[in-house]
Amino acid sequence: MLPHWLEKASLNTVQTLGLYIHVPFCRRACHYCDFYFTPRASLMEAYTEALLHEIDLYGPLLEAFPIQTVFFGGGTPSWLPFHLWERVFRKLSRFSTYAPTEVTIEANPEDISLQSLHFWQAHGVTRISIGIQSFSPRVLRTLGRFHTPEAAYTAVELLSAASLSSWNADLIFGVPGQSMEEFLSDISFLAAHHIPHLSLYGLTIEERTVLYKKVQRGRFVPVDDELYDAFYHAAHGFLQEAGFIWYEISNWARPGHECKHNWRYWRREAYIGLGPSAHSFIPEVRWANKRSLRAYLASLETGEYPLDFWEALSAEEQQRELWITQFRTRLGISLSELRSEDRPALYESLEKMVASGWIEKEGDRYRLTAAGALIANRLALELDSQVRV
Ligand code: SF4
Repeated sequence: MLPHWLEKASLNTVQTLGLYIHVPFCRRACHYCDFYFTPRASLMEAYTEALLHEIDLYGPLLEAFPIQTVFFGGGTPSWLPFHLWERVFRKLSRFSTYAPTEVTIEANPEDISLQSLHFWQAHGVTRISIGIQSFSPRVLRTLGRFHTPEAAYTAVELLSAASLSSWNADLIFGVPGQSMEEFLSDISFLAAHHIPHLSLYGLTIEERTVLYKKVQRGRFVPVDDELYDAFYHAAHGFLQEAGFIWYEISNWARPGHECKHNWRYWRREAYIGLGPSAHSFIPEVRWANKRSLRAYLASLETGEYPLDFWEALSAEEQQRELWITQFRTRLGISLSELRSEDRPALYESLEKMVASGWIEKEGDRYRLTAAGALIANRLALELDSQVRV
Protein backbone atom coordinates (compact mmCIF):
# COMPACT_ATOMS: atom_id res chain seq x y z
CA MET A 1 0.00 0.00 0.00
CA LEU A 2 1.31 3.45 -0.87
CA PRO A 3 1.55 6.20 1.76
CA HIS A 4 -1.68 8.19 1.96
CA TRP A 5 -0.09 11.50 0.83
CA LEU A 6 0.71 9.95 -2.55
CA GLU A 7 -3.00 9.88 -3.33
CA LYS A 8 -2.46 13.52 -4.32
CA ALA A 9 0.50 12.71 -6.60
CA SER A 10 0.39 12.34 -10.39
CA LEU A 11 1.93 8.88 -10.47
CA ASN A 12 0.89 8.48 -14.10
CA THR A 13 3.47 11.13 -15.08
CA VAL A 14 6.36 9.23 -13.46
CA GLN A 15 8.62 7.29 -15.82
CA THR A 16 11.67 6.56 -13.70
CA LEU A 17 12.77 7.13 -10.10
CA GLY A 18 15.84 8.53 -8.43
CA LEU A 19 16.77 7.25 -4.99
CA TYR A 20 18.53 9.40 -2.41
CA ILE A 21 19.77 7.64 0.73
CA HIS A 22 20.97 9.79 3.61
CA VAL A 23 23.72 8.19 5.71
CA PRO A 24 23.81 10.43 8.80
CA PHE A 25 27.20 9.70 10.37
CA CYS A 26 30.32 11.87 10.54
CA ARG A 27 33.40 11.44 12.66
CA ARG A 28 33.13 15.01 13.86
CA ALA A 29 31.53 18.33 12.92
CA CYS A 30 33.28 20.41 10.28
CA HIS A 31 33.27 24.04 11.41
CA TYR A 32 31.07 25.32 8.56
CA CYS A 33 28.55 22.48 8.30
CA ASP A 34 24.90 22.55 9.37
CA PHE A 35 23.83 19.23 7.82
CA TYR A 36 22.19 16.66 10.00
CA PHE A 37 24.55 13.94 11.26
CA THR A 38 25.60 12.13 14.41
CA PRO A 39 29.11 10.98 15.40
CA ARG A 40 27.65 7.85 17.12
CA ALA A 41 28.97 4.99 15.02
CA SER A 42 27.40 2.60 17.54
CA LEU A 43 24.03 3.43 15.91
CA MET A 44 25.09 2.38 12.39
CA GLU A 45 23.71 -1.12 12.83
CA ALA A 46 20.32 0.14 14.02
CA TYR A 47 20.27 2.76 11.27
CA THR A 48 20.86 0.12 8.59
CA GLU A 49 18.13 -2.08 10.05
CA ALA A 50 15.70 0.86 9.97
CA LEU A 51 16.75 1.85 6.45
CA LEU A 52 16.04 -1.68 5.18
CA HIS A 53 12.64 -1.46 6.82
CA GLU A 54 11.97 1.90 5.18
CA ILE A 55 12.96 0.44 1.78
CA ASP A 56 10.36 -2.28 2.38
CA LEU A 57 7.70 0.31 3.22
CA TYR A 58 8.36 2.01 -0.13
CA GLY A 59 8.56 -1.38 -1.88
CA PRO A 60 5.38 -1.00 -3.96
CA LEU A 61 6.63 2.31 -5.31
CA LEU A 62 10.18 1.11 -5.92
CA GLU A 63 8.82 -1.96 -7.69
CA ALA A 64 6.59 0.15 -9.95
CA PHE A 65 9.21 2.28 -11.75
CA PRO A 66 12.77 1.73 -13.03
CA ILE A 67 15.27 3.08 -10.49
CA GLN A 68 17.54 5.14 -12.71
CA THR A 69 19.92 6.90 -10.32
CA VAL A 70 21.00 6.34 -6.72
CA PHE A 71 22.83 8.85 -4.54
CA PHE A 72 24.19 8.01 -1.08
CA GLY A 73 24.70 11.37 0.61
CA GLY A 74 25.55 12.43 4.09
CA GLY A 75 26.95 12.70 6.51
CA THR A 76 29.84 10.52 5.47
CA PRO A 77 28.44 7.46 3.66
CA SER A 78 31.97 6.14 3.07
CA TRP A 79 32.33 5.66 6.85
CA LEU A 80 29.69 2.89 6.85
CA PRO A 81 31.39 -0.52 7.24
CA PHE A 82 31.36 -3.00 4.37
CA HIS A 83 29.09 -5.55 6.05
CA LEU A 84 26.35 -2.90 6.37
CA TRP A 85 26.80 -1.75 2.76
CA GLU A 86 26.38 -5.37 1.71
CA ARG A 87 22.99 -5.50 3.40
CA VAL A 88 21.83 -2.29 1.73
CA PHE A 89 22.95 -3.37 -1.77
CA ARG A 90 21.50 -6.86 -1.30
CA LYS A 91 18.14 -5.34 -0.40
CA LEU A 92 18.12 -2.90 -3.34
CA SER A 93 19.17 -5.49 -5.90
CA ARG A 94 16.16 -7.63 -5.00
CA PHE A 95 13.95 -5.14 -6.84
CA SER A 96 13.48 -6.13 -10.47
CA THR A 97 13.46 -2.38 -11.21
CA TYR A 98 16.96 -1.89 -9.79
CA ALA A 99 19.29 -1.34 -12.77
CA PRO A 100 20.59 2.20 -12.19
CA THR A 101 22.82 3.90 -14.73
CA GLU A 102 24.49 5.98 -12.01
CA VAL A 103 25.20 5.12 -8.36
CA THR A 104 27.08 7.80 -6.41
CA ILE A 105 28.62 7.55 -2.96
CA GLU A 106 29.81 10.64 -1.11
CA ALA A 107 33.16 9.87 0.47
CA ASN A 108 35.80 11.54 2.56
CA PRO A 109 39.50 11.12 1.67
CA GLU A 110 40.33 9.02 4.74
CA ASP A 111 37.97 6.28 3.49
CA ILE A 112 39.37 5.98 -0.02
CA SER A 113 41.63 2.97 -0.49
CA LEU A 114 42.16 0.34 -3.17
CA GLN A 115 40.07 -2.01 -1.06
CA SER A 116 37.11 0.35 -0.60
CA LEU A 117 37.08 1.33 -4.28
CA HIS A 118 37.07 -2.34 -5.35
CA PHE A 119 34.34 -3.12 -2.86
CA TRP A 120 32.02 -0.31 -3.94
CA GLN A 121 32.60 -0.96 -7.64
CA ALA A 122 31.84 -4.64 -7.14
CA HIS A 123 28.49 -3.54 -5.69
CA GLY A 124 27.58 -1.38 -8.66
CA VAL A 125 28.87 2.04 -7.57
CA THR A 126 29.74 4.07 -10.68
CA ARG A 127 30.65 7.44 -9.19
CA ILE A 128 32.47 8.71 -6.08
CA SER A 129 32.01 12.27 -4.89
CA ILE A 130 34.85 13.17 -2.58
CA GLY A 131 34.86 15.99 -0.03
CA ILE A 132 38.37 17.43 -0.47
CA GLN A 133 37.52 21.11 0.20
CA SER A 134 41.19 22.12 0.05
CA PHE A 135 44.71 20.70 -0.05
CA SER A 136 46.05 23.46 2.18
CA PRO A 137 46.71 22.37 5.80
CA ARG A 138 45.83 25.86 7.04
CA VAL A 139 42.51 25.99 5.18
CA LEU A 140 41.63 22.45 6.30
CA ARG A 141 42.28 23.50 9.91
CA THR A 142 40.08 26.59 9.56
CA LEU A 143 37.30 24.42 8.13
CA GLY A 144 37.78 21.83 10.89
CA ARG A 145 38.15 19.00 8.40
CA PHE A 146 39.12 15.57 9.66
CA HIS A 147 41.51 14.65 6.85
CA THR A 148 45.07 15.75 6.10
CA PRO A 149 46.32 17.09 2.74
CA GLU A 150 48.29 13.84 2.33
CA ALA A 151 45.09 11.77 2.62
CA ALA A 152 43.46 14.00 0.00
CA TYR A 153 46.40 13.68 -2.43
CA THR A 154 46.43 9.89 -2.02
CA ALA A 155 42.67 9.66 -2.55
CA VAL A 156 42.91 11.67 -5.78
CA GLU A 157 45.72 9.45 -7.08
CA LEU A 158 43.62 6.35 -6.35
CA LEU A 159 40.47 7.78 -7.88
CA SER A 160 42.22 8.90 -11.04
CA ALA A 161 43.69 5.40 -11.49
CA ALA A 162 40.40 3.59 -10.74
CA SER A 163 38.10 2.45 -13.53
CA LEU A 164 35.08 4.36 -12.23
CA SER A 165 32.66 5.81 -14.77
CA SER A 166 33.01 9.19 -13.10
CA TRP A 167 34.12 11.00 -9.98
CA ASN A 168 33.76 14.42 -8.44
CA ALA A 169 35.57 16.54 -5.87
CA ASP A 170 34.08 19.32 -3.74
CA LEU A 171 36.28 22.36 -3.06
CA ILE A 172 35.55 25.42 -0.93
CA PHE A 173 36.68 28.94 -1.79
CA GLY A 174 36.58 32.24 0.05
CA VAL A 175 38.10 30.87 3.26
CA PRO A 176 39.95 33.54 5.29
CA GLY A 177 43.67 32.94 4.88
CA GLN A 178 43.24 31.00 1.61
CA SER A 179 45.23 32.51 -1.23
CA MET A 180 44.13 32.63 -4.86
CA GLU A 181 47.29 30.70 -5.80
CA GLU A 182 46.40 27.91 -3.36
CA PHE A 183 42.87 27.65 -4.69
CA LEU A 184 43.89 27.61 -8.34
CA SER A 185 46.65 25.13 -7.66
CA ASP A 186 44.06 22.81 -5.99
CA ILE A 187 41.94 22.99 -9.13
CA SER A 188 44.85 22.48 -11.48
CA PHE A 189 46.07 19.47 -9.47
CA LEU A 190 42.62 17.90 -9.90
CA ALA A 191 42.45 18.83 -13.58
CA ALA A 192 45.91 17.28 -14.11
CA HIS A 193 44.49 14.08 -12.60
CA HIS A 194 41.72 14.11 -15.23
CA ILE A 195 38.93 14.80 -12.81
CA PRO A 196 35.64 14.55 -14.75
CA HIS A 197 33.49 16.74 -12.45
CA LEU A 198 34.07 19.53 -9.94
CA SER A 199 31.75 21.21 -7.44
CA LEU A 200 32.95 24.54 -6.05
CA TYR A 201 31.23 26.18 -3.10
CA GLY A 202 31.89 29.56 -1.57
CA LEU A 203 32.21 29.48 2.21
CA THR A 204 28.97 30.63 3.82
CA ILE A 205 28.49 31.07 7.54
CA GLU A 206 25.43 29.11 8.65
CA GLU A 207 23.79 29.37 12.03
CA ARG A 208 24.46 26.46 14.43
CA THR A 209 28.06 26.08 13.24
CA VAL A 210 31.41 26.62 14.94
CA LEU A 211 32.30 29.39 12.47
CA TYR A 212 29.04 31.21 13.20
CA LYS A 213 29.86 31.27 16.90
CA LYS A 214 33.38 32.50 16.13
CA VAL A 215 31.96 35.31 13.95
CA GLN A 216 29.57 36.28 16.78
CA ARG A 217 32.50 36.51 19.19
CA GLY A 218 34.56 38.53 16.73
CA ARG A 219 37.14 35.75 16.34
CA PHE A 220 36.51 35.07 12.66
CA VAL A 221 36.08 37.56 9.84
CA PRO A 222 34.64 36.26 6.55
CA VAL A 223 36.34 37.43 3.34
CA ASP A 224 34.82 40.47 1.63
CA ASP A 225 32.54 40.17 -1.41
CA GLU A 226 35.17 41.40 -3.82
CA LEU A 227 37.64 38.64 -2.93
CA TYR A 228 34.87 36.03 -2.86
CA ASP A 229 33.80 37.03 -6.38
CA ALA A 230 37.42 37.03 -7.59
CA PHE A 231 37.83 33.38 -6.48
CA TYR A 232 34.70 32.36 -8.38
CA HIS A 233 35.64 34.21 -11.58
CA ALA A 234 39.18 32.82 -11.52
CA ALA A 235 37.94 29.24 -11.14
CA HIS A 236 35.28 29.73 -13.78
CA GLY A 237 37.82 31.05 -16.29
CA PHE A 238 40.28 28.25 -15.54
CA LEU A 239 37.69 25.48 -15.92
CA GLN A 240 36.18 26.86 -19.12
CA GLU A 241 39.66 27.10 -20.59
CA ALA A 242 40.30 23.48 -19.54
CA GLY A 243 37.21 22.27 -21.45
CA PHE A 244 34.72 21.83 -18.59
CA ILE A 245 31.05 22.56 -19.13
CA TRP A 246 29.53 24.89 -16.56
CA TYR A 247 26.09 23.37 -16.07
CA GLU A 248 24.91 24.69 -12.72
CA ILE A 249 26.04 27.56 -10.50
CA SER A 250 28.41 25.35 -8.48
CA ASN A 251 29.04 22.49 -10.92
CA TRP A 252 31.41 21.93 -13.84
CA ALA A 253 31.80 18.69 -15.81
CA ARG A 254 33.74 17.32 -18.71
CA PRO A 255 31.38 16.36 -21.57
CA GLY A 256 29.30 13.30 -20.62
CA HIS A 257 30.02 13.61 -16.88
CA GLU A 258 27.19 15.80 -15.61
CA CYS A 259 25.59 14.24 -12.54
CA LYS A 260 22.42 12.49 -13.71
CA HIS A 261 20.97 12.33 -10.23
CA ASN A 262 21.27 16.08 -9.64
CA TRP A 263 19.62 16.74 -12.98
CA ARG A 264 16.58 14.91 -11.63
CA TYR A 265 16.25 17.53 -8.89
CA TRP A 266 16.74 20.41 -11.29
CA ARG A 267 14.25 19.03 -13.82
CA ARG A 268 11.82 18.26 -10.99
CA GLU A 269 11.69 14.55 -11.81
CA ALA A 270 10.53 12.02 -9.23
CA TYR A 271 12.83 10.90 -6.44
CA ILE A 272 12.43 9.10 -3.15
CA GLY A 273 14.59 10.11 -0.20
CA LEU A 274 15.30 7.56 2.53
CA GLY A 275 17.08 8.02 5.85
CA PRO A 276 16.79 10.80 8.44
CA SER A 277 16.10 14.28 7.03
CA ALA A 278 15.83 12.99 3.43
CA HIS A 279 13.39 14.78 1.11
CA SER A 280 11.23 13.20 -1.60
CA PHE A 281 9.25 14.50 -4.55
CA ILE A 282 6.68 12.94 -6.83
CA PRO A 283 4.82 15.50 -8.94
CA GLU A 284 3.17 17.46 -7.31
CA VAL A 285 3.79 16.17 -3.76
CA ARG A 286 6.88 16.59 -1.66
CA TRP A 287 7.64 15.25 1.75
CA ALA A 288 10.51 14.92 4.21
CA ASN A 289 11.65 12.48 6.84
CA LYS A 290 12.21 13.31 10.48
CA ARG A 291 15.55 14.99 10.96
CA SER A 292 16.74 13.21 14.10
CA LEU A 293 18.13 9.69 13.91
CA ARG A 294 16.43 8.78 17.21
CA ALA A 295 13.01 9.85 15.91
CA TYR A 296 13.67 8.08 12.59
CA LEU A 297 14.53 4.81 14.37
CA ALA A 298 11.54 5.10 16.70
CA SER A 299 9.07 5.51 13.79
CA LEU A 300 10.43 2.55 11.87
CA GLU A 301 10.50 0.36 14.98
CA THR A 302 6.73 0.71 15.11
CA GLY A 303 6.39 0.14 11.36
CA GLU A 304 5.49 3.75 10.57
CA TYR A 305 6.83 6.03 7.85
CA PRO A 306 9.34 8.41 9.52
CA LEU A 307 7.44 11.36 8.07
CA ASP A 308 8.14 14.89 9.21
CA PHE A 309 5.82 16.76 6.79
CA TRP A 310 4.24 16.53 3.38
CA GLU A 311 2.64 19.09 1.09
CA ALA A 312 0.90 19.08 -2.26
CA LEU A 313 1.93 21.84 -4.66
CA SER A 314 -0.49 23.42 -7.06
CA ALA A 315 0.38 22.97 -10.74
CA GLU A 316 1.25 26.67 -10.81
CA GLU A 317 3.59 26.44 -7.80
CA GLN A 318 5.28 23.45 -9.33
CA GLN A 319 5.83 25.23 -12.64
CA ARG A 320 7.21 28.30 -10.89
CA GLU A 321 9.66 26.22 -8.88
CA LEU A 322 10.78 24.46 -12.05
CA TRP A 323 11.56 27.76 -13.77
CA ILE A 324 13.45 29.14 -10.80
CA THR A 325 15.45 25.90 -10.39
CA GLN A 326 16.30 25.73 -14.09
CA PHE A 327 17.37 29.36 -14.00
CA ARG A 328 20.33 28.19 -11.89
CA THR A 329 21.39 25.67 -14.57
CA ARG A 330 22.61 25.91 -18.12
CA LEU A 331 19.02 25.28 -19.27
CA GLY A 332 18.17 28.79 -18.16
CA ILE A 333 14.73 30.21 -18.58
CA SER A 334 12.72 30.14 -21.79
CA LEU A 335 10.70 33.15 -22.88
CA SER A 336 8.03 31.14 -24.65
CA GLU A 337 7.53 28.80 -21.67
CA LEU A 338 7.10 31.82 -19.45
CA ARG A 339 4.66 33.40 -21.94
CA SER A 340 6.49 36.69 -21.56
CA GLU A 341 4.01 38.46 -23.83
CA ASP A 342 1.50 38.16 -20.95
CA ARG A 343 4.06 39.49 -18.50
CA PRO A 344 5.66 42.67 -19.82
CA ALA A 345 7.26 43.47 -16.42
CA LEU A 346 9.02 40.12 -16.43
CA TYR A 347 10.36 40.71 -19.93
CA GLU A 348 11.58 44.12 -18.84
CA SER A 349 13.37 42.63 -15.80
CA LEU A 350 15.09 40.02 -17.94
CA GLU A 351 16.25 42.63 -20.45
CA LYS A 352 17.60 44.81 -17.62
CA MET A 353 19.55 41.82 -16.30
CA VAL A 354 21.00 41.28 -19.78
CA ALA A 355 22.04 44.94 -19.94
CA SER A 356 23.72 44.60 -16.53
CA GLY A 357 25.68 41.55 -17.70
CA TRP A 358 24.02 39.17 -15.21
CA ILE A 359 22.30 37.00 -17.79
CA GLU A 360 22.79 36.47 -21.49
CA LYS A 361 20.27 35.72 -24.19
CA GLU A 362 20.66 32.88 -26.63
CA GLY A 363 17.73 32.36 -28.96
CA ASP A 364 14.67 31.99 -26.81
CA ARG A 365 16.64 31.34 -23.59
CA TYR A 366 18.12 33.51 -20.88
CA ARG A 367 21.06 32.05 -18.98
CA LEU A 368 23.12 33.25 -16.04
CA THR A 369 26.59 34.66 -16.65
CA ALA A 370 29.34 34.05 -14.09
CA ALA A 371 28.68 37.55 -12.69
CA GLY A 372 24.96 36.71 -12.42
CA ALA A 373 25.68 33.38 -10.74
CA LEU A 374 27.17 35.28 -7.80
CA ILE A 375 23.86 37.06 -7.18
CA ALA A 376 21.60 34.29 -8.47
CA ASN A 377 19.41 34.19 -5.37
CA ARG A 378 18.60 37.88 -5.66
CA LEU A 379 17.89 37.58 -9.40
CA ALA A 380 15.74 34.47 -8.87
CA LEU A 381 13.70 36.28 -6.20
CA GLU A 382 13.09 39.17 -8.56
CA LEU A 383 12.00 36.86 -11.37
CA ASP A 384 9.87 34.81 -9.02
CA SER A 385 7.94 37.89 -7.96
CA GLN A 386 7.32 38.70 -11.64
CA VAL A 387 6.23 35.14 -12.50
CA ARG A 388 3.68 35.26 -9.69
CA VAL A 389 2.01 38.35 -11.11
S1 SF4 B 1 31.95 15.48 6.68
FE1 SF4 B 1 30.47 16.61 5.40
S2 SF4 B 1 28.44 16.26 6.37
FE2 SF4 B 1 30.04 15.65 7.85
S3 SF4 B 1 30.31 17.44 9.15
FE3 SF4 B 1 31.86 17.56 7.52
S4 SF4 B 1 30.88 18.75 5.87
FE4 SF4 B 1 29.28 18.12 7.29
